[in-house]
Amino acid sequence: MSDERKVSAAFRQFWLGSVTLTPYLAEMSQSRLLASIHDVGPRSEHAFDLLHDRFAALGVATPALLVVPDHWGEAPIRPGTPFATRLRALADGGHEIFLHGWYHRDTGTHSGAASFKAKHMTAGEGEFLGLGAGEAERRIRDGRALLEDIIGRPVTGFVAPAWLYGEGAHEALKATGIQLAEDHWRVWNPISGAVLAKSPVITWASRTRMRRWSSLAVAAAARMVPLPKVVRLAVHPGDVTSPALLASISATLKSMLRTHAPGRYSDL
Ligand SMILES: [Zn+2]
Repeated sequence: MSDERKVSAAFRQFWLGSVTLTPYLAEMSQSRLLASIHDVGPRSEHAFDLLHDRFAALGVATPALLVVPDHWGEAPIRPGTPFATRLRALADGGHEIFLHGWYHRDTGTHSGAASFKAKHMTAGEGEFLGLGAGEAERRIRDGRALLEDIIGRPVTGFVAPAWLYGEGAHEALKATGIQLAEDHWRVWNPISGAVLAKSPVITWASRTRMRRWSSLAVAAAARMVPLPKVVRLAVHPGDVTSPALLASISATLKSMLRTHAPGRYSDL
């Protein structure tokens, strides 16, 4: 082969190589999107299906699932039920399963700053904000045992309802050896205390018009600024009640997926 042909063959190979690589650039940059569906349980299966299908259509096949063992004391997950079978299949299919409280609802009483937080930030859904360490530990142990029995593998971690942790919850996380937890601002390892990712979670609120509007504004802003290396996006069953929220979720996911490949919490 002449030198000229060798050079042209080498160039061709390089060019084809870089073209073939283009779809994997997001993958190679190690920028990650951690997507999650909250409040998974028998009482919200229809909304779950809608959100799951929407994620899958946009290329996020296995979002993390935050599972509530007995939502509001009205929707217990029991081994051997069709829902339990489905949860097992989802875990087998690659979804990371997080324990997400026990009842989700806040049944405690609070004082001072905690009372303000409980009333204004959670609509009474901050179950782990006011729990003492003993009760928090009992609910984490029971919830983890239930879910692990059903899915046949360890849970990936624990996320407190409304991302709110009181002192008791922090103590309980250490005592139970939970390896991953997250709040609005970070993902951390409760055993070592190491912070694994630091960025606000992009999420939507459906409860009031004002909250819907502000979550739409935040999501729109997130689509316009450069994103951190690890971005988090979380959706809730109530989001399916608003076409505007669903449109914003899709637009934000699409925008994030241009630069961030779907990732797993356990790879942090
Ligand atoms: Zn929740």
